[in-house]
Amino acid sequence: MTELEKKRKHTPAPALTEWEYAPAPEARDIVHLEERYGLFLGGRMVEPRSGTYAATIDPSTEEPLAEVAQGGPEDVDLAVEAARGAFEDGWSALAPSERAKYLFRIARIMQERSRELAVLESLNNGKPIRESRDVDVPLAAAHFFYYAGWADKLEYAFPNRRPRPLGVAAQVIPWNFPLLMLSWKIAPALATGNTVILKPASTTPLTALLFTEICRQADLPPGVVNILTGNGRMGATLVRHPGVDKVAFTGSTEVGKDIQRALAGSGKRLTLELGGKAANIVFDDAALDQAVEGIVNGIYFNQGQVCCAGSRLLVQESIAEPLIAKLKQRLATLRVGDPLDKNTDLGAINSREQLDRITELVASGREEGAEIFQPACKLPEKGFWFPPTVFTNVAQSYRIAQEEIFGPVLSVLTFRTPEEALEKANNTAYGLSAGVWTEKGSRILWMAQRLRAGVVWANTFNRFDPASPFGGYKESGFGREGGRHGLEPYLRFDE
Ligand code: NAP
Ligand code: MG
Repeated sequence: MTELEKKRKHTPAPALTEWEYAPAPEARDIVHLEERYGLFLGGRMVEPRSGTYAATIDPSTEEPLAEVAQGGPEDVDLAVEAARGAFEDGWSALAPSERAKYLFRIARIMQERSRELAVLESLNNGKPIRESRDVDVPLAAAHFFYYAGWADKLEYAFPNRRPRPLGVAAQVIPWNFPLLMLSWKIAPALATGNTVILKPASTTPLTALLFTEICRQADLPPGVVNILTGNGRMGATLVRHPGVDKVAFTGSTEVGKDIQRALAGSGKRLTLELGGKAANIVFDDAALDQAVEGIVNGIYFNQGQVCCAGSRLLVQESIAEPLIAKLKQRLATLRVGDPLDKNTDLGAINSREQLDRITELVASGREEGAEIFQPACKLPEKGFWFPPTVFTNVAQSYRIAQEEIFGPVLSVLTFRTPEEALEKANNTAYGLSAGVWTEKGSRILWMAQRLRAGVVWANTFNRFDPASPFGGYKESGFGREGGRHGLEPYLRFDE
């Protein structure tokens, strides 16, 4: 051994990973919470006829944030009455350019209050402020801007088809993107001249309740937007109500099927945006470092609680080893913790129920024989947390390769040929999204034509734009949201 080699052996290299970030918390006091929230019906906050309230919490600390009204059947009746009244009493007949003005106004107020909305979204959902600030809130405002632009151009969007609004839309949304899903639902419905009753998820009602202030600030006529908080049972009552003309649902496949059965033969129009088990497919000619970033964004964005998450990684066999090594290295740099810290990459899981579901599926992965990797990370003591997780040695039959985990858990499978990649990617009951990583344009097109998925991303993942339609095949649902396509489910045509 030379002197230099000896010296190297005894001086350990500086451990770069031990650098600590200073805390960089976003101020929480921009948000003013009421102790108690009623129902937003006919343009006013009213007490629920049911007389019941439930606490909503911060999932990162389990601290209660506010009490929220739990609507019952009588409240559903009142909401439908308010929405019907507003529809007939002017909204449906309003000049389309006037409707557009309200939507533009809402979009601008959302931008003005974006910091408040982002902090509140992170508080109630557990997602990192970096995401609520840079993704959820700007995209939510963008949806209102986008559909404001269509409101007075429907005759051009559907030439010779005489588009007419449907009436009252009942919209039920999940907890993973509370404000963004509200925008995906409300913006196209209002642009086409419908009135709405929106039911937020039980665990994340607060940004929808703040949105009621925005409606009032924008002078939106009373009853055009109604926010009805309550549990799943109330959601079931709402979608079945005879006064509802259109149902739009985003959530689990199980509830989606239940709604579809209940509405069969009722004449109500229905769109369903349900779960997914997307394949993110990396070919041997892909730029590996970019692919690693895309994989991380695909499955760890919003703690993996994303219907279009790239939860199945399909890697070409020849590059599996280096790719997985790079991925594990990258995982060790992810920061898990306080959602309001600007340096946080992964926040809290939204609820204990969801955490239990993730924990159960991860246990099944171990039992079935997959190999688990989790970087060392210290999780906070209170709240609902799960570390970023990768499973290798996964067989297609394992539950972690089949079922939607809806958490920060990636299952890695390998393939040899494009045909095999395609077959494995399509071997799922779902069909919401997919990703393809390769240098070859021809291969991207070949794959995109054959993947049974509503969205196919090429050399990127989880990219959204209001102008681009989104929706599923098979058990991922039907109907499209976004783009010109997103107008159609809210219209009938006098042809
Ligand atoms: P979920 O039960 O389908 O909830 C979605 C929405 O539907 C919530 O507002 C919920 O209200 C409401 N709801 C529940 N039961 C209903 C019924 N019978 N009729 C009408 N509305 C009803 O989903 P979850 O229980 O929150 O999550 C379970 C699994 O679904 C997750 O693990 C994930 O795999 C999947 N998921 C998918 C998406 C997606 O974006 N596609 C979103 C969320 C969850 P409450 O909140 O009051 O129960
Ligand atoms: Mg549920």
